[in-house]
Amino acid sequence: MSFKALVTEKIGDSFATSLKDFEAADLGVGDVTVAVEWSTLNYKDGLAIAGKRIMQSYPMIGGVDFAGTVEASDNAAYKPGDKVIANGWGLSQTHNGGYAQKARVPAEWLIPLPSAFTTREAMAIGTAGYTAMLCVMALEHGGLSPDRGDILVTGANGGVGSIAISLLSALGYRVTASTGRPAEADYLRNLGAAEIVDRAQFSAAGKPLGSERWAGAVDSVGSHTLANVLAQTKYRGVVAACGLAQGIDLPASVAPFILRNVTLAGIDSVNAPRDVRVEAWARLARDLKPAKLAATITEIGLADVPRVGGAILKGEVRGRTVVNVNA
Ligand code: NDP
Repeated sequence: MSFKALVTEKIGDSFATSLKDFEAADLGVGDVTVAVEWSTLNYKDGLAIAGKRIMQSYPMIGGVDFAGTVEASDNAAYKPGDKVIANGWGLSQTHNGGYAQKARVPAEWLIPLPSAFTTREAMAIGTAGYTAMLCVMALEHGGLSPDRGDILVTGANGGVGSIAISLLSALGYRVTASTGRPAEADYLRNLGAAEIVDRAQFSAAGKPLGSERWAGAVDSVGSHTLANVLAQTKYRGVVAACGLAQGIDLPASVAPFILRNVTLAGIDSVNAPRDVRVEAWARLARDLKPAKLAATITEIGLADVPRVGGAILKGEVRGRTVVNVNA
Protein backbone atom coordinates (compact mmCIF):
# COMPACT_ATOMS: atom_id res chain seq x y z
CA MET A 1 0.00 0.00 0.00
CA SER A 2 1.36 3.45 -0.87
CA PHE A 3 1.39 6.67 1.17
CA LYS A 4 2.70 10.24 0.82
CA ALA A 5 6.38 10.85 1.51
CA LEU A 6 8.81 13.70 0.92
CA VAL A 7 11.68 12.06 -0.91
CA THR A 8 15.14 13.53 -1.54
CA GLU A 9 16.96 12.26 -4.64
CA LYS A 10 20.45 12.84 -6.00
CA ILE A 11 20.48 13.63 -9.69
CA GLY A 12 24.04 14.02 -10.94
CA ASP A 13 25.63 16.56 -8.60
CA SER A 14 22.34 18.14 -7.49
CA PHE A 15 19.57 17.23 -5.09
CA ALA A 16 15.79 17.36 -5.52
CA THR A 17 13.12 16.89 -2.87
CA SER A 18 9.49 16.25 -3.82
CA LEU A 19 6.27 14.62 -2.64
CA LYS A 20 5.90 11.04 -3.94
CA ASP A 21 3.70 8.02 -3.48
CA PHE A 22 5.93 5.65 -1.52
CA GLU A 23 5.49 1.89 -1.05
CA ALA A 24 5.53 0.49 2.52
CA ALA A 25 7.74 -2.35 1.26
CA ASP A 26 10.47 0.22 0.48
CA LEU A 27 10.60 1.74 3.99
CA GLY A 28 13.54 -0.37 5.15
CA VAL A 29 14.29 -2.67 8.06
CA GLY A 30 12.60 -2.35 11.45
CA ASP A 31 10.21 -4.28 13.67
CA VAL A 32 7.72 -1.46 14.37
CA THR A 33 5.60 0.35 11.77
CA VAL A 34 4.23 3.74 12.84
CA ALA A 35 1.42 5.83 11.35
CA VAL A 36 3.23 9.18 11.55
CA GLU A 37 1.13 12.16 12.64
CA TRP A 38 3.68 14.94 13.05
CA SER A 39 7.30 15.60 12.21
CA THR A 40 9.33 18.78 12.58
CA LEU A 41 12.06 20.88 11.01
CA ASN A 42 15.49 21.27 12.61
CA TYR A 43 18.64 22.91 11.23
CA LYS A 44 19.93 19.40 10.47
CA ASP A 45 16.82 18.71 8.35
CA GLY A 46 17.58 21.84 6.32
CA LEU A 47 21.12 20.52 5.74
CA ALA A 48 19.86 17.03 4.84
CA ILE A 49 17.41 18.05 2.12
CA ALA A 50 19.96 20.51 0.70
CA GLY A 51 22.27 17.50 0.14
CA LYS A 52 24.80 18.68 2.74
CA ARG A 53 26.33 15.39 3.90
CA ILE A 54 23.60 14.16 6.25
CA MET A 55 21.87 11.54 4.08
CA GLN A 56 24.21 8.68 3.31
CA SER A 57 22.23 7.16 0.44
CA TYR A 58 19.48 8.20 -1.99
CA PRO A 59 16.56 8.24 -2.51
CA MET A 60 15.86 8.99 1.16
CA ILE A 61 12.88 10.28 3.15
CA GLY A 62 14.15 13.14 5.35
CA GLY A 63 13.06 14.14 8.84
CA VAL A 64 15.15 13.30 11.93
CA ASP A 65 12.06 13.19 14.18
CA PHE A 66 8.55 11.79 14.12
CA ALA A 67 5.63 11.14 16.47
CA GLY A 68 2.66 8.92 15.79
CA THR A 69 0.75 5.73 16.60
CA VAL A 70 2.07 2.19 16.29
CA GLU A 71 0.31 0.39 13.44
CA ALA A 72 2.10 -2.98 13.56
CA SER A 73 4.80 -4.39 15.82
CA ASP A 74 6.91 -7.56 15.92
CA ASN A 75 8.44 -6.40 19.20
CA ALA A 76 6.83 -7.14 22.57
CA ALA A 77 7.69 -3.63 23.83
CA TYR A 78 5.08 -2.01 21.53
CA LYS A 79 1.57 -2.87 20.38
CA PRO A 80 -0.79 -1.27 17.85
CA GLY A 81 -2.30 1.92 19.24
CA ASP A 82 0.75 2.91 21.34
CA LYS A 83 1.80 6.56 20.93
CA VAL A 84 5.54 6.87 20.26
CA ILE A 85 8.27 9.33 19.35
CA ALA A 86 11.64 8.95 17.61
CA ASN A 87 14.55 11.42 17.56
CA GLY A 88 17.79 11.00 15.67
CA TRP A 89 19.52 7.60 15.44
CA GLY A 90 19.75 6.78 11.72
CA LEU A 91 16.67 8.75 10.67
CA SER A 92 17.36 10.78 7.49
CA GLN A 93 20.98 9.50 7.53
CA THR A 94 20.97 5.74 6.92
CA HIS A 95 17.23 5.10 7.30
CA ASN A 96 14.04 6.70 5.95
CA GLY A 97 12.85 9.48 8.31
CA GLY A 98 9.72 11.24 9.50
CA TYR A 99 8.63 13.25 6.43
CA ALA A 100 6.06 10.60 5.48
CA GLN A 101 2.74 9.21 6.57
CA LYS A 102 4.47 5.99 7.69
CA ALA A 103 7.81 5.01 9.23
CA ARG A 104 9.33 1.64 10.04
CA VAL A 105 12.16 1.53 12.60
CA PRO A 106 13.87 -0.77 15.10
CA ALA A 107 11.93 -0.73 18.41
CA GLU A 108 15.05 0.55 20.24
CA TRP A 109 14.76 3.86 18.35
CA LEU A 110 11.33 4.56 19.85
CA ILE A 111 10.31 5.87 23.23
CA PRO A 112 6.74 6.04 24.51
CA LEU A 113 5.13 9.46 24.14
CA PRO A 114 5.09 11.10 27.60
CA SER A 115 1.47 11.48 28.71
CA ALA A 116 1.99 15.23 29.21
CA PHE A 117 2.29 15.77 25.44
CA THR A 118 0.23 15.33 22.29
CA THR A 119 2.13 14.04 19.25
CA ARG A 120 2.04 17.64 17.88
CA GLU A 121 3.55 19.06 21.08
CA ALA A 122 6.24 16.36 21.07
CA MET A 123 7.26 17.45 17.58
CA ALA A 124 7.16 21.11 18.60
CA ILE A 125 9.89 20.01 21.01
CA GLY A 126 11.58 17.60 18.57
CA THR A 127 15.33 17.12 18.38
CA ALA A 128 15.93 20.84 19.00
CA GLY A 129 13.94 20.89 22.25
CA TYR A 130 15.22 17.56 23.47
CA THR A 131 18.77 18.81 22.79
CA ALA A 132 18.02 21.99 24.78
CA MET A 133 17.02 19.73 27.69
CA LEU A 134 20.26 17.71 27.33
CA CYS A 135 22.12 21.04 27.59
CA VAL A 136 20.22 22.02 30.74
CA MET A 137 20.97 18.59 32.26
CA ALA A 138 24.68 19.09 31.43
CA LEU A 139 24.70 22.47 33.23
CA GLU A 140 23.10 20.86 36.28
CA HIS A 141 25.52 17.92 36.11
CA GLY A 142 28.36 20.48 36.20
CA GLY A 143 26.95 21.84 39.45
CA LEU A 144 25.14 24.98 38.29
CA SER A 145 22.17 26.42 40.15
CA PRO A 146 20.25 29.70 39.67
CA ASP A 147 22.19 31.48 42.47
CA ARG A 148 25.46 31.18 40.51
CA GLY A 149 24.56 33.95 38.04
CA ASP A 150 23.37 34.53 34.46
CA ILE A 151 23.15 31.83 31.82
CA LEU A 152 23.84 32.95 28.23
CA VAL A 153 21.84 31.31 25.42
CA THR A 154 23.28 31.86 21.93
CA GLY A 155 21.25 31.38 18.74
CA ALA A 156 18.36 32.57 20.89
CA ASN A 157 15.66 32.71 18.21
CA GLY A 158 16.47 29.23 16.92
CA GLY A 159 14.81 25.99 17.98
CA VAL A 160 17.42 24.95 20.55
CA GLY A 161 17.79 28.54 21.79
CA SER A 162 14.05 29.20 22.19
CA ILE A 163 13.40 26.04 24.19
CA ALA A 164 16.58 26.51 26.27
CA ILE A 165 15.42 30.01 27.29
CA SER A 166 12.01 28.68 28.22
CA LEU A 167 13.39 25.78 30.27
CA LEU A 168 16.09 27.76 32.09
CA SER A 169 13.77 30.61 33.04
CA ALA A 170 11.15 28.13 34.33
CA LEU A 171 13.90 26.60 36.50
CA GLY A 172 14.64 30.00 38.04
CA TYR A 173 17.77 31.00 36.10
CA ARG A 174 18.31 34.58 34.91
CA VAL A 175 18.76 34.15 31.16
CA THR A 176 20.58 36.45 28.75
CA ALA A 177 19.66 35.83 25.10
CA SER A 178 22.21 36.46 22.35
CA THR A 179 20.64 37.16 18.95
CA GLY A 180 21.21 38.75 15.56
CA ARG A 181 17.49 39.56 15.39
CA PRO A 182 16.81 42.34 17.96
CA ALA A 183 13.36 42.84 16.36
CA GLU A 184 12.36 39.56 18.05
CA ALA A 185 13.06 40.96 21.55
CA ASP A 186 9.41 40.68 22.64
CA TYR A 187 9.30 37.01 21.60
CA LEU A 188 12.49 36.29 23.58
CA ARG A 189 11.29 38.19 26.66
CA ASN A 190 7.99 36.34 26.52
CA LEU A 191 9.92 33.03 26.57
CA GLY A 192 11.71 34.19 29.72
CA ALA A 193 14.85 36.10 28.66
CA ALA A 194 15.72 38.81 31.22
CA GLU A 195 18.23 40.53 28.93
CA ILE A 196 18.96 40.56 25.21
CA VAL A 197 22.42 41.13 23.72
CA ASP A 198 23.64 41.55 20.14
CA ARG A 199 25.35 38.39 18.87
CA ALA A 200 27.87 40.57 16.97
CA GLN A 201 29.83 41.06 20.22
CA PHE A 202 30.73 37.33 20.13
CA SER A 203 31.18 36.83 16.38
CA ALA A 204 34.81 37.89 15.78
CA ALA A 205 38.15 36.68 17.16
CA GLY A 206 38.54 37.75 20.83
CA LYS A 207 40.95 37.49 23.76
CA PRO A 208 41.77 34.18 25.52
CA LEU A 209 40.18 35.54 28.72
CA GLY A 210 37.67 38.35 29.23
CA SER A 211 35.74 39.69 32.19
CA GLU A 212 33.68 37.00 33.94
CA ARG A 213 30.06 37.41 32.81
CA TRP A 214 28.33 34.01 32.62
CA ALA A 215 27.81 31.27 35.20
CA GLY A 216 27.05 29.05 32.25
CA ALA A 217 25.90 28.96 28.65
CA VAL A 218 23.94 26.95 26.10
CA ASP A 219 25.69 27.44 22.77
CA SER A 220 24.21 26.36 19.45
CA VAL A 221 26.55 28.56 17.40
CA GLY A 222 30.18 27.30 17.77
CA SER A 223 33.23 28.98 16.19
CA HIS A 224 34.31 32.43 17.54
CA THR A 225 31.04 32.71 19.47
CA LEU A 226 31.80 29.64 21.57
CA ALA A 227 35.44 30.73 22.03
CA ASN A 228 34.35 34.17 23.32
CA VAL A 229 31.66 32.69 25.57
CA LEU A 230 34.25 30.37 27.15
CA ALA A 231 36.60 33.34 27.67
CA GLN A 232 33.82 35.22 29.54
CA THR A 233 32.62 32.30 31.67
CA LYS A 234 32.99 32.67 35.46
CA TYR A 235 35.19 30.56 37.68
CA ARG A 236 33.86 26.93 37.75
CA GLY A 237 31.23 27.79 35.13
CA VAL A 238 29.78 25.28 32.64
CA VAL A 239 29.19 25.71 28.89
CA ALA A 240 27.08 23.18 26.97
CA ALA A 241 28.08 23.11 23.29
CA CYS A 242 25.60 21.56 20.89
CA GLY A 243 25.72 23.42 17.58
CA LEU A 244 27.59 25.02 14.73
CA ALA A 245 25.31 27.73 13.28
CA GLN A 246 28.32 30.07 12.93
CA GLY A 247 30.89 27.37 12.17
CA ILE A 248 32.36 23.99 13.09
CA ASP A 249 35.72 25.47 14.16
CA LEU A 250 36.65 26.38 17.74
CA PRO A 251 39.39 29.05 17.68
CA ALA A 252 39.86 29.09 21.47
CA SER A 253 42.64 28.77 24.04
CA VAL A 254 42.89 26.50 27.09
CA ALA A 255 42.99 29.56 29.40
CA PRO A 256 39.34 29.27 30.58
CA PHE A 257 39.88 25.59 31.44
CA ILE A 258 43.19 25.83 33.28
CA LEU A 259 42.80 29.26 34.90
CA ARG A 260 39.04 29.36 35.62
CA ASN A 261 38.21 25.68 35.90
CA VAL A 262 35.54 26.11 33.21
CA THR A 263 33.83 22.94 31.96
CA LEU A 264 32.99 22.54 28.28
CA ALA A 265 30.26 19.90 28.02
CA GLY A 266 29.68 18.32 24.60
CA ILE A 267 26.10 17.48 23.68
CA ASP A 268 25.04 14.83 21.15
CA SER A 269 21.35 14.02 20.78
CA VAL A 270 21.58 11.61 17.84
CA ASN A 271 23.13 8.59 19.55
CA ALA A 272 22.29 9.44 23.17
CA PRO A 273 21.57 6.26 25.17
CA ARG A 274 17.94 5.36 25.76
CA ASP A 275 18.00 6.06 29.54
CA VAL A 276 19.30 9.59 28.87
CA ARG A 277 16.52 10.19 26.29
CA VAL A 278 13.83 8.92 28.64
CA GLU A 279 15.15 11.17 31.41
CA ALA A 280 15.31 14.19 29.07
CA TRP A 281 11.72 13.67 27.90
CA ALA A 282 10.51 13.19 31.50
CA ARG A 283 12.22 16.46 32.43
CA LEU A 284 10.63 18.21 29.42
CA ALA A 285 7.23 16.99 30.59
CA ARG A 286 7.94 18.47 34.03
CA ASP A 287 9.76 21.71 33.20
CA LEU A 288 8.46 23.00 29.85
CA LYS A 289 5.44 25.27 30.24
CA PRO A 290 2.81 24.47 27.54
CA ALA A 291 2.02 28.17 26.91
CA LYS A 292 5.72 28.93 26.30
CA LEU A 293 6.00 25.97 23.94
CA ALA A 294 2.89 27.10 22.03
CA ALA A 295 4.47 30.54 21.50
CA THR A 296 7.37 28.95 19.58
CA ILE A 297 5.28 26.95 17.06
CA THR A 298 4.75 27.50 13.33
CA GLU A 299 2.83 24.78 11.47
CA ILE A 300 3.53 23.68 7.88
CA GLY A 301 2.65 20.75 5.57
CA LEU A 302 5.02 18.27 3.93
CA ALA A 303 5.13 20.24 0.66
CA ASP A 304 6.39 23.37 2.52
CA VAL A 305 9.43 21.61 3.99
CA PRO A 306 11.93 22.34 1.15
CA ARG A 307 11.16 26.10 1.25
CA VAL A 308 11.30 26.38 5.05
CA GLY A 309 14.37 24.09 5.09
CA GLY A 310 16.16 26.69 2.92
CA ALA A 311 15.08 29.46 5.30
CA ILE A 312 16.37 27.68 8.43
CA LEU A 313 19.85 27.43 6.87
CA LYS A 314 19.80 31.22 6.40
CA GLY A 315 18.88 31.75 10.08
CA GLU A 316 15.43 33.07 9.09
CA VAL A 317 13.23 30.64 11.03
CA ARG A 318 12.08 31.57 14.53
CA GLY A 319 11.35 28.96 17.20
CA ARG A 320 10.00 25.54 16.24
CA THR A 321 8.30 24.37 13.06
CA VAL A 322 5.94 21.38 13.19
CA VAL A 323 5.15 19.42 10.03
CA ASN A 324 1.67 17.94 9.57
CA VAL A 325 2.47 14.90 7.39
CA ASN A 326 -1.22 14.41 6.57
CA ALA A 327 -1.85 17.99 5.36
P1 NDP B 1 18.01 27.09 14.13
O1 NDP B 1 18.38 27.45 12.72
O2 NDP B 1 16.58 27.04 14.50
O3 NDP B 1 18.75 28.10 15.13
C1 NDP B 1 20.06 28.55 14.96
C2 NDP B 1 20.15 30.01 15.41
O4 NDP B 1 21.52 30.39 15.44
C3 NDP B 1 19.49 31.01 14.46
O5 NDP B 1 18.11 31.12 14.68
C4 NDP B 1 20.23 32.28 14.79
O6 NDP B 1 19.67 32.85 15.98
C5 NDP B 1 21.65 31.77 15.14
N1 NDP B 1 22.59 31.90 14.02
C6 NDP B 1 22.40 31.53 12.73
N2 NDP B 1 23.48 31.81 11.98
C7 NDP B 1 24.38 32.38 12.82
C8 NDP B 1 25.69 32.92 12.66
N3 NDP B 1 26.30 32.91 11.46
N4 NDP B 1 26.31 33.43 13.73
C9 NDP B 1 25.71 33.46 14.94
N5 NDP B 1 24.46 32.98 15.16
C10 NDP B 1 23.82 32.44 14.12
O7 NDP B 1 18.72 25.69 14.41
P2 NDP B 1 18.46 24.64 15.60
O8 NDP B 1 18.08 25.37 16.81
O9 NDP B 1 17.64 23.52 15.07
O10 NDP B 1 19.94 24.07 15.77
C11 NDP B 1 20.95 24.95 16.26
C12 NDP B 1 22.32 24.30 16.09
O11 NDP B 1 22.40 23.17 16.96
C13 NDP B 1 22.60 23.79 14.68
O12 NDP B 1 23.97 23.99 14.38
C14 NDP B 1 22.30 22.31 14.77
O13 NDP B 1 23.00 21.55 13.83
C15 NDP B 1 22.75 22.02 16.20
N6 NDP B 1 22.08 20.88 16.80
C16 NDP B 1 22.87 19.90 17.34
C17 NDP B 1 22.31 18.84 17.98
C18 NDP B 1 23.19 17.84 18.66
O14 NDP B 1 22.77 16.71 18.88
N7 NDP B 1 24.41 18.24 19.02
C19 NDP B 1 20.85 18.63 18.00
C20 NDP B 1 20.10 19.77 17.51
C21 NDP B 1 20.73 20.84 16.89
P3 NDP B 1 19.46 34.45 16.12
O15 NDP B 1 18.73 34.89 14.89
O16 NDP B 1 18.67 34.60 17.37
O17 NDP B 1 20.84 35.05 16.22
